[in-house]
Amino acid sequence: EAAATAAVALRDTEAPTIFDKILSKQIPSTVVYEDEKVLAFRDISPQAPTHIILIPKERDGLTQLSKAEERHEEILGHLLYVAKVVAQQEGLDDGFRIVINDGPNGCQSVYHLHLHLLGGRKLGWPPG
Ligand code: ADP
Repeated sequence: EAAATAAVALRDTEAPTIFDKILSKQIPSTVVYEDEKVLAFRDISPQAPTHIILIPKERDGLTQLSKAEERHEEILGHLLYVAKVVAQQEGLDDGFRIVINDGPNGCQSVYHLHLHLLGGRKLGWPPG
């Protein structure tokens, strides 16, 4: 049982990311929404007039969507619902886009699961 506990501990100590520093306020961000489970802040390199990142406060192994397990269903649903709330708060009444990049082919660069909320202009399709 000790070995199993150690294995879990090892998994939980995966390298911290820049989003941990945003969560701990070690580096500043412009927060647009916060509740007990989710933080949403403006992307530092916006790809549209509105570009917001939404993250779970507890990464809990969710480095990327492809690592999701059944226990993550609730937080994944909550993130999507909050994205809709923030889109309304931002006045994106003509529509918006939610993006989750996964892994190298998805161009993921920060390994703490996050949603991109993009809007404020007509977005191209298909994405590059
Ligand atoms: P990509 O970099 O290809 O968009 P991701 O999907 O992993 O890959 O997105 C990470 C996002 O985090 C990027 O849009 C990036 O601009 C944003 N970002 C990185 N550092 C910061 C920061 N300090 N504050 C706000 N956003 C950040």
